[in-house]
Amino acid sequence: MNAPDQKDVEIVSQVRAILSGAGLRTTAARLAVYRRLQESDSPLTHAEVAENLVPLGFDKATIFRNLVDLVDAGLVRRTELGDHVWRFELRGVDEDHDEKHPHFVCTECGGVTCLHETDLSKLSQKSLDSIGQITEILLKGHCKSCETK
Ligand SMILES: [Zn+2]
Ligand SMILES: [Zn+2]
Repeated sequence: MNAPDQKDVEIVSQVRAILSGAGLRTTAARLAVYRRLQESDSPLTHAEVAENLVPLGFDKATIFRNLVDLVDAGLVRRTELGDHVWRFELRGVDEDHDEKHPHFVCTECGGVTCLHETDLSKLSQKSLDSIGQITEILLKGHCKSCETK
């Protein structure tokens, strides 16, 4: 049962390197926030991050401050998907700073899915350049589990 611990140590040292590379100190809270986002495959709200981390002893304000720090440092992307709630997700390592992937939002359950495979941005960017700057590409609909209800 030592294997998971070893993996944990590796992940922590990786995250530590990423944080220090971005000019951030590694605090327990910052590490916990980063790892929570890392474990998720969709963007999380402050409330969702807090739900997991408050029981571990971190307070909501600290969690929020760390989310903002990570955004400011360019490690995390902040997204607003039309419901006036900020969602946070890690930027992909190979993701260009300006390059953004589209999101699918279910209008029934509010579930958000990252569409990493859907490359609308590059193609659309050119034709939309004359209108303005794209800040978010958003697709709405009913997710699979809501569709079958
Ligand atoms: Zn749904
Ligand atoms: Zn996403």
